[in-house]
Amino acid sequence: MKLNILHLYPEEMNLYGDHGNVLAIKRRCEWRDIEVNIIEHEPGDKIPNNVDIIFGGGGQDSGQGKIEEDLQKIAPKLQELIEDGVPCLVICGLYQLFGKYFKTSDGQKIKGAGILDITTNAGPTRLIGNISINSYGFGKIVGYENHSGLTSLGPKVKAFGEVVMGAGNNGEDQTEGCRYKNCIGTYLHGPILPKNPKFTDFFIAEAIKHKTGEEVSLKPLDDEIERQAHAVAMTRPR
Ligand code: GLN
Repeated sequence: MKLNILHLYPEEMNLYGDHGNVLAIKRRCEWRDIEVNIIEHEPGDKIPNNVDIIFGGGGQDSGQGKIEEDLQKIAPKLQELIEDGVPCLVICGLYQLFGKYFKTSDGQKIKGAGILDITTNAGPTRLIGNISINSYGFGKIVGYENHSGLTSLGPKVKAFGEVVMGAGNNGEDQTEGCRYKNCIGTYLHGPILPKNPKFTDFFIAEAIKHKTGEEVSLKPLDDEIERQAHAVAMTRPR
């Protein structure tokens, strides 16, 4: 078994250790003898057909501006994969740009891929600090957020979770992130996956299910250190 991870724009979209998410998927696969191939997508590259997991991290407004044009080009292919059930995780900057648009504090409107039914407008202050949420389906999730964007969810997506501590989508309605099919968008850096191993295994299990058409139960791993780190993170102040 070999899983192909499509890593979108690692050059520009990689804040606060987001690359660690790809490493977490890779390691947890390798510990179970599942091979992993990482395809780094930069502007101008083509999207291959055999994508099993899509990942994209956060970025500065300027970085988001730089990838805007290429994202428009690959949006139909990404949409096709997501409609087909390919698991996808997008963090902060790319979460915003998987939506309809992100309007920056300079008034620049960066067009998104339109895959997620969300819109984002920069607010007057940055929302910064540790964050914890009650996710829908994956238990308590911990991470770190730093964004100006305030995101509103449309009717075609569900929230990823409810904010326990922190701001989340907009600091107002207690929602955090969103989910459409197996595509999850979230503001949580951290990186989120090493900090939340159960959540990481969701992407691996869904990727195998999508590839083989069969339900899998992944070999359990010793997550004691991760569990302890998670427990400490839950007690941290913002
Ligand atoms: N530039 C975006 C914002 O400030 C995203 C930031 C990020 O990815 N952390 O809202």
